[in-house]
Amino acid sequence: MKIAVIGVGYVGLVSGVCLAEVGHEITCVDLDQAKIDKLNQNHVPIYERGLEDMVAANRAAGHLHFTTDLAAALKDAEAAFIAVGTPSRESDGHADLSYIYAAAKNIAEQATDPLVIINKSTVPVGTGDEVENIVKTTRPDLQFDIVSNPEFLREGAAIEDFMAPDRIVIGVETDHARKVMAEIYAPFAAQGYPILYVNRRTSELTKYAANSFLALKLAYINEVAELCEVVGADIKGVSKGIGLDPRIGEKFLNAGPGYGGSCFPKDTLALVRTAQDHERPLRLIEMIVSINEYRKRAMSRKIAQMCENEVKGKKIAILGLTFKPNTDDMREAPSIAIIQGLQDMGTTIHAYDPEGMENAKRYLNNITYCDSALACVDSADAAVIVTEWDEFRTLPFAEIKTRMRKPVLVDLRNLYDGQSLKAVGFDYQCVGRPQET
Ligand code: NAD
Repeated sequence: MKIAVIGVGYVGLVSGVCLAEVGHEITCVDLDQAKIDKLNQNHVPIYERGLEDMVAANRAAGHLHFTTDLAAALKDAEAAFIAVGTPSRESDGHADLSYIYAAAKNIAEQATDPLVIINKSTVPVGTGDEVENIVKTTRPDLQFDIVSNPEFLREGAAIEDFMAPDRIVIGVETDHARKVMAEIYAPFAAQGYPILYVNRRTSELTKYAANSFLALKLAYINEVAELCEVVGADIKGVSKGIGLDPRIGEKFLNAGPGYGGSCFPKDTLALVRTAQDHERPLRLIEMIVSINEYRKRAMSRKIAQMCENEVKGKKIAILGLTFKPNTDDMREAPSIAIIQGLQDMGTTIHAYDPEGMENAKRYLNNITYCDSALACVDSADAAVIVTEWDEFRTLPFAEIKTRMRKPVLVDLRNLYDGQSLKAVGFDYQCVGRPQET
């Protein structure tokens, strides 16, 4: 099927490439000319394993195109995915839908009918109705359907997630839309991946309910970790012990510095606002939002405690900046609040991240960026593991100790065990375990 994808960010690009991979004819459109120029030279503007090869292969096979020309992308297309950003509105935390509405209007202006317009972005319940109004008002003559098809991929494993999804949720209101969606996802249905057809509002809400539930698990385990530290329990054991119960499940029970990223913080907040607007406040999610905000900055105080609360003028080495490994995404990364907190205490920050340093420059000031973990810890008074990149799992601590001014390690991802670090002479603190003394 000939399909247009509007918005070439993490979701639009991965969706477009994967739909081309399964045999559709895909044209991806973005307003950002520099991004499109790069992609037309097979350069992928984001870091996602395997994506660059897939872009090159599908472009070479003639199934995948990139352009800024929406009219050309929509010519003869049967379907158009909207995959533009829906960031938090700064003033009040509601989802900012201006990009969605603008994209809907642009599509309506250029569409050739009949067209199924599929919203892949994460949008509050009811947005599909408003998109329908916009398209109808802009083009009363156009034959179209509006579908909700939220995306559940995870950055860092985006291709695997798209190609082998846990489920595909599709919110449709007409038989025609359902038929077109079934055709788009036929290669996935043929492999047995579950496809759930619901109405549009159910589909829109499912995405927020899923993300908020995952955030809830993380906020919960982080609070239990706090308790572990003062009662002599070990959060890893607790997580394992509860996660083996299939009603709870093992995933998303790793304690850490608080959740971040481009989805959980904005989606939990947007769900809170939607619920409040409908006078059905989700108190539990309101609490999670505030627990998580508190936790991120609290990590800077935890680091200061490891330096006997005398951090003014000290040099802190930050290992890992992105909100999780295998991505270059810095949006709402816990490192931002942690570093800000440490800088407010008067520390000097040196940082190293395998992929995130370019993007970090947009969010953080007055940082010395280093080429490697070893360069980062040079003459540092403390080192902090913030992101669990694989290369931080096997750090050469004997050498690191000789380089640091003081051998203090704060491991916010529980990558190490305190005994072995103590054996090489480190003061070590992680999350959810009493400090090694
Ligand atoms: P992004 O910010 O990385 O990319 C959005 C892209 O859309 C940008 O390249 C921008 O230039 C382009 N754009 C904006 N308006 C446009 C227009 N009118 N025409 C053409 N292009 C336009 O966003 P993202 O991270 O891919 O997220 C997109 C949506 O998917 C969001 O709603 C997000 O919540 C959701 N989502 C994201 C993830 C994730 O892991 N990033 C996962 C699931 C769902």
